[in-house]
Amino acid sequence: MDKMLDIVFNLGMLASLSILSGFIGADGERRGRKLLMQGALYGTASILGMLHPLVLAPGLIFDGRSVMLSVCGFFFGPVAAALAACMALVLRIHQGGPGAVMGVLVIVSSALVGALFHRMHYGKTGRASARLLYLMGLLVHAAMVLLMLTLPEDQAMKTIRLLALPVMVAYPLTTLFIGRILSEFDAHRRMGESLKLSESNLRRSNEELAANLNKLMKREKELRFTNAVLRTQQETSLDGILVVDGEGGVISFNRRFTELWGIPADVAASGDEKKLLKRAMERLLHPAEFLSKVNFLYQHPHEKSRDEIELIGGTVFDRYSAPMLGTAGEYYGRIWYFRDITGSKRAEEEVRKHREHLEELVRERTNELEAAKETAERANMAKSAFLANMSHEIRTPLNAILGFGTILERDLTLSETQAEQVRTINRSGRHLLKLINDILDMSRIEAGRLALHNAPFCLQDLLDDLEAMFRVRAEEKGLSLSLERDANLPCNVVGDEAKLRQVLVNMTGNAVKFTKQGSVTLRVRMEAPAETGPRLVLEVEDTGPGIPPEELTHIFDAFRQSEAGREAGGTGLGLSISKRLVDLMGGELAVRSTLGAGSCFTASIPVEPSAETSSQPKTPPRRIAGVERNEAEGPLLIVDDVKENRDILKALLAPLGFALREAENGREALRIFEEERPCAVLMDMRMPVMDGYEATRRIKASEGGSSVPVIAITASAFEDDVQNVLKSGADICIRKPLSPEDVYEALGKLLDIRFHYADEPRTAETRHEAFLSREALAALPGETIEAMRTALQDGDIDELESLIEGIRRFDGDLAENLLRLARQYDYSAFGDFIAHGGRESHGHSSEHHRRGSE
Ligand code: ADP
Repeated sequence: MDKMLDIVFNLGMLASLSILSGFIGADGERRGRKLLMQGALYGTASILGMLHPLVLAPGLIFDGRSVMLSVCGFFFGPVAAALAACMALVLRIHQGGPGAVMGVLVIVSSALVGALFHRMHYGKTGRASARLLYLMGLLVHAAMVLLMLTLPEDQAMKTIRLLALPVMVAYPLTTLFIGRILSEFDAHRRMGESLKLSESNLRRSNEELAANLNKLMKREKELRFTNAVLRTQQETSLDGILVVDGEGGVISFNRRFTELWGIPADVAASGDEKKLLKRAMERLLHPAEFLSKVNFLYQHPHEKSRDEIELIGGTVFDRYSAPMLGTAGEYYGRIWYFRDITGSKRAEEEVRKHREHLEELVRERTNELEAAKETAERANMAKSAFLANMSHEIRTPLNAILGFGTILERDLTLSETQAEQVRTINRSGRHLLKLINDILDMSRIEAGRLALHNAPFCLQDLLDDLEAMFRVRAEEKGLSLSLERDANLPCNVVGDEAKLRQVLVNMTGNAVKFTKQGSVTLRVRMEAPAETGPRLVLEVEDTGPGIPPEELTHIFDAFRQSEAGREAGGTGLGLSISKRLVDLMGGELAVRSTLGAGSCFTASIPVEPSAETSSQPKTPPRRIAGVERNEAEGPLLIVDDVKENRDILKALLAPLGFALREAENGREALRIFEEERPCAVLMDMRMPVMDGYEATRRIKASEGGSSVPVIAITASAFEDDVQNVLKSGADICIRKPLSPEDVYEALGKLLDIRFHYADEPRTAETRHEAFLSREALAALPGETIEAMRTALQDGDIDELESLIEGIRRFDGDLAENLLRLARQYDYSAFGDFIAHGGRESHGHSSEHHRRGSE
């Protein structure tokens, strides 16, 4: 009975243990701790069971530990099983007795089998079927029955016989029972947990739903706002807007649309789209055209289109249509904009008309201007022709006036008054000539007929010439003339030397002319500003009267002259010519002046420094004192229709010993040329019967004629005419009024003759001849020679010099040479001259005629 009670105790404890264990569970949070608690619980239960065991014999006890430990291993795995087994082992070893070995082995095997089942099945599936539990119970307790063999021999068989059957029946069933309880608990617990999970999921979904609802409400508010914006935009738009769906049904239109298309309020309010569109169509000027466009757009939904449409009554709309597309490009319909552009169209039309009118006006004006330009050009050409003719007409008689004036000036038979009058005639003539030359220069510049001739030239030579030209004049006036050349001044530059010279001569000439006392300074330097390139800067500063400010602004205008300028006999053209020349050279001419203190003219002219020198080396004009020529050569032929001009040439050439022939026109010239074979021809170009051009051509074309030099003489001032003259075959062209130097120089170049120059070193025989030419001697009055001889004999040098000064009036060169001789105290030479009384010539000098040049 006691034994049965123990068994019941054990079984009851097992049941309550399983319930307790079921409550603890082994899932969810803190699983490790729960497993340990389970291990401790089953260990304790095993211990309690072992304290109330079924005692078969002293030390041979049976209890429910095998069930506890195997169930513990099955449900809670090896860790819990190991903990429980350890606790049970401690007590069982402590209890000792003959069944101790078997007890220990049962503890270990039960825990092991349980843990094995957990590993292999329950731990993986979480399912504890009745079959499995029962199988485990059978296994654990079959092992127990086997382990009974470890009992002492006498007890082993007895125990087996006694307990094997009840153990194999009761214990597996108990295992099944407890396992089922635990499994049920577990299922309930899991259900509870999944319920809890579902609840929390539900709560979360609820919260999400609430959040989504909030978002939706916010979105709806935003949508309402966007709608309001869109509606306002539509309604306040100046464009009429119509929105249609994919099938062409009207979605919406704004008030402006109905206004523009004149759709009555009732039609608009009715929302009847057919009526609406019909009203719109009725107003179109070209409805068919519009409809075809609309159709096209329905067939091509993704197209945009824009054009202008006309309504009956002249209204014009700017129409624009674009598809309404979703973000993924899906087509929702189409939006149409209509803008009334009638006003701007009209304005455009007005502007177009104005422009056309203006263009017409411009065309008319251009035609008028072209006509005016042509007239002006014709007038200009007429002016040029007139100037060319005028120059010829004036220069021809002027040539005669100056030529004979110069010869007359030497006539010692004239009274003092007459001589003065002749000098006045000559002065006026020269002034007139300068005036004509200046006017011609101006007209050439204005007609654009003056071209630049840039070439390398020696700047230093030019400055030397200039200085030499003005030094005497400045000294005569008691002015100091200084030329300050900058150290960096190049020797050679490329530029138009002649024009530069003309400008410099004018500036320096004015300075010397207008300055009564003080100095004239010419400063020359090179500047190279980066923006303009190298420039030659020429500055002429004087201490003259200065220029009043009111005149300063017009100083470069033509014919602007001060009183002093008029008195000094200027033409008033020099500065304006200089200004135009400087402009032509691409430079600048400027002036600054202080009244009463002086003026400073500055020309800055672009020039390039050059390593080359001029191709024609400069020889300073030399004074011709005599000539050697081959007497065997033929005569010189002078051809001019004006007798005075022929006479001048004769007066210039006869003293050189040439035999001279004259012809009045080209035809006569040809005849004489054939008959007498002259050594050279001086040919005027404008002549009646046959002009110089034709005559020259014929002479050059005749047999042997091409080698005979022809010196053309023209009164024209134009460069072009000179070119024409040279084309006719003439070798050289010289201009009227003729200067003796030009004539001699031309002859020197073309004929085999040699001139004696005043600056040549002279031999004993030629030294008197050098300065005492035959005519010069012959021209002196006998009384003058007599008076000089007396003065020489008396040693009265003052008287001698004053007599020579008297001679200066007739012949400057002669006086100059005589004075030099007197100052060299070369009285023997002087005596020689006086002895010959100027009436005899030296031996060969009668053949070698000479003439001092002017
Ligand atoms: P012209 O000297 O032949 O009269 P220009 O054109 O050379 O003509 O000069 C015009 C005027 O400018 C002169 O008449 C004179 O009044 C004034 N002028 C020119 N240079 C100077 C100068 N260096 N000092 C004072 N006045 C001058």
